[in-house]
Amino acid sequence: AQFPIASTVRTTCPYCGVGCGVNAKVGQDGVIAIAGDTAHPASQGRLCVKGSALGETLGNHGRLLAPMLREEGSLRPATWDEALDKVAQGFARVIAEHGPDAVALYVSGQLLTEDYYVANKFMKGYVGSANIDTNSRLCMSSAVAGHKRAFGEDVVPGSYEDFELADLVVLVGSNAAWCHPTLYQRIARAKQDRPEMKVVVIDPRRTATCDIADLHLPVKPGTDVWLFDGLLAHLAEHATDDGFIDAHTTGLADALDAAGKAGSLADVAKACRLDPRDLERFYALFAQTEKVVTAFTMGVNQSTAGADKVNAIINCHLITGRIGRPGMGPFSLTGQPNAMGGREVGGLANMLAAHMDLDDAAQRAALQAFWGSPHVASKPGLKAVDLFRAIEDGKIKAVWIMATNPLVSLPDADQARRALEKCELVVASDIVLGTDTNEAAHVLLPALGWGEKDGTVTNSERCISRQRAFLSAPGSARADWDIMCDVAHRMGFEGFEFKGPHEIFDEHARLSGWKNGTEGQRRRVFDITGLAGMTRADYDALDPVQWPVRTPGERTERLFGDGHFAHGDGRARFVPTVPRAPAHLPGGEYPLVLNTGRVRDQWHTMTRTGRSQKLAEHIPEPYIDMHPQDALLCGVKAGELARVTSDWGAVVARVQHGGGIARGSVFMPIHWSGQTASDARVGTVVNPAVDPVSGEPEFKHTPVRIEPF
Ligand code: SF4
Repeated sequence: AQFPIASTVRTTCPYCGVGCGVNAKVGQDGVIAIAGDTAHPASQGRLCVKGSALGETLGNHGRLLAPMLREEGSLRPATWDEALDKVAQGFARVIAEHGPDAVALYVSGQLLTEDYYVANKFMKGYVGSANIDTNSRLCMSSAVAGHKRAFGEDVVPGSYEDFELADLVVLVGSNAAWCHPTLYQRIARAKQDRPEMKVVVIDPRRTATCDIADLHLPVKPGTDVWLFDGLLAHLAEHATDDGFIDAHTTGLADALDAAGKAGSLADVAKACRLDPRDLERFYALFAQTEKVVTAFTMGVNQSTAGADKVNAIINCHLITGRIGRPGMGPFSLTGQPNAMGGREVGGLANMLAAHMDLDDAAQRAALQAFWGSPHVASKPGLKAVDLFRAIEDGKIKAVWIMATNPLVSLPDADQARRALEKCELVVASDIVLGTDTNEAAHVLLPALGWGEKDGTVTNSERCISRQRAFLSAPGSARADWDIMCDVAHRMGFEGFEFKGPHEIFDEHARLSGWKNGTEGQRRRVFDITGLAGMTRADYDALDPVQWPVRTPGERTERLFGDGHFAHGDGRARFVPTVPRAPAHLPGGEYPLVLNTGRVRDQWHTMTRTGRSQKLAEHIPEPYIDMHPQDALLCGVKAGELARVTSDWGAVVARVQHGGGIARGSVFMPIHWSGQTASDARVGTVVNPAVDPVSGEPEFKHTPVRIEPF
């Protein structure tokens, strides 16, 4: 049984990228009381319904409590020595026989920064392959690519406070009311206090977020680049900051050329299926308002034009010089609790630790010298969708999956299942036993969950916060970093002698300042040298802090306000974004477009939130939301089951109306898995087309048909 190791801790919510502060208190009766942490700058005491229910999601029921090995199709409990030897020997054998690119790690924005750091060091520095990708690829990689192209580094310039200081908040592809609830509450409160503040929501669906919108633009799915290219052309005539453009940017002429391909305002309105008067109103409002925040999330990122959508938005802030100052800037809302921390340690297959560039030989050499490692991977690894294709093709023969459930969450999820069925060695580290992915694993390793593990996460506004343990490990579960270090030792790797997460964080902090700005190294914005050298006690007491932290006590609310960007010449780049259609268009056999997303009270594949009765009451089963007229044409009725079929698979769910959906589109939530009564993995239907720049899949645009079940 678990027992409390602390009676009260300040910690951080493990769900969305807002990163709210949580006070957890273990009562004498063992009941865990959860409350918002009023001292946490991200949330100021607020918690949404998911965060408030965290206490109900704990306990050993359904937990993976000991290592397991699959033998002749059945799982049996094993000792840690047996299990870790199997992993280490299996990886070593495959590397010896087929080379380092024949193994892979597939990790998660649920990992803590310290876990992520060790995973990257293990793969890129010691195995010698960059075949480590993460479920953040499905979530934020388009924002990463957009930031790097425009700014020279993956940096969110603003703070949550900017949403309160803005006179216009534009929410693009974001149902913040459900997916970033406490930030939405801050916007709603600011609007209540200052009714002159305007909110514009750009979303194909009329979601709960539209409740505070002065204007909702129900844009046709996949046409955001048209909309923002049209805005750029409008701003070029009405609201340029010429001094800023001349002194701090390059590439405006090319960006305007590309934007011109979107055509006139009437052409854009037609392409986006919007009322031209609404579009004109939005363009005028944007042009006339100095303090504008444009926040974007999955509706922008999860697209085959995701990176271009991000840059089309950033272009509009560069042309007006509205960036890095109070109440203004483009703002990427992170999906997961630690997608940002994973990016800091190079958690994507095309990145290195500490925002160093994988394609820069000098930076690779600097990293190798810092680590003292035998290698540093010299070419990008495979991104998530390609990684699972390589497994099915037999090119990757051993994969270690941590804290994620790709057989539910990847697009074309049946392909991912075929891949794991063919893979020679599948290792899964998880907190629960029964998931679709774990059923395909040969080795299961029990990991610590929220409330049990110790480390840091970074939220959407670059705020590093501690997650702290207050419960003992269930069974023989161990921290992910500790498990990986043990495997590294068994493979003969030196450099993994960490005594605790504080030592990993210290190495991460020291690396962030390593040779920064010297010996030809480009100075990076990400720098937390001021957090290096902390004792265990300092680390335990660490207060939330926004990076960069170059000196102890420093906190950085905003970046780029001085007009100095991270490209070598210090200038931001306008990126030309020529509008292009989604990879697969509706028509013929598949006349409707499937959009996928979250619901308010569930998280990912429900392994935690699914344990709370209170959370289940909001939406108890998977559904297909569609327009009543489309339902009539398809011969299906609200309340009845229907089958959704695409070129990639089929799934069954109950029809409903009322989700604010326009004709031609349908919406399904992502949370339900093959472990529920019917196999409701929406990922089986989603097309696997990806953005050519970011590798992010097009979760928001799959042609489907719907028929009675
Ligand atoms: Fe805050 Fe997000 Fe957690 Fe809700 S789910 S409490 S908004 S971090």
